[in-house]
Amino acid sequence: MVEGQAVETAVASILKALGEDAGREGLRDTPRRVARMYSELFSGVGVDPRSAIDAIFEEERHEEAVVVLRGVPFYSMCEHHLMPFYGQAHMGYVPKSKIAGASKLVRALEVAARRPQIQERLTAQVADAVHDVLDTAGTGVVIEAEHLCMSMRGVQKRGSVVVTSATRGDFDEAGVRRSQLMSMVQGRAA
Ligand SMILES: [Zn+2]
Repeated sequence: MVEGQAVETAVASILKALGEDAGREGLRDTPRRVARMYSELFSGVGVDPRSAIDAIFEEERHEEAVVVLRGVPFYSMCEHHLMPFYGQAHMGYVPKSKIAGASKLVRALEVAARRPQIQERLTAQVADAVHDVLDTAGTGVVIEAEHLCMSMRGVQKRGSVVVTSATRGDFDEAGVRRSQLMSMVQGRAA
């Protein structure tokens, strides 16, 4: 739970420390606006992404069935600079018997993204949530993102994308190889 009043006070201090007049018209309500926005952007702090996958269906296992969800947009905040990183997530899993609606995977991604975060951990947390809750034979997650803390400072050219991936499970049980699933998650021919 974000403490709005404390965030307001802190943002007012930052503005003052920048040499700004925190009382001028354009800035007067900024601490309150930032606090309100932070309560949304950081609403995932302390929430387990696994809790977002709350509707599970039991299905007869189909040999080599694979579920892939590609191109899910997300926004998160880099914990090193409190600047946005954003892009697309691709998720896939090989079910044993449990399946969840696509919206639940999207929700798990959102919960994991709405906290001070790094892309590698975001990728791992989404993979863990899907793998643990659905007890999959195999899970793969790929995230592509642009980081404003890099592109705004010219360290990296605008539009450059960082790609991270995580896999969970031993795969063999369902007869689907790790490379097959990851090809599908990444959008290459399987
Ligand atoms: Zn950063």
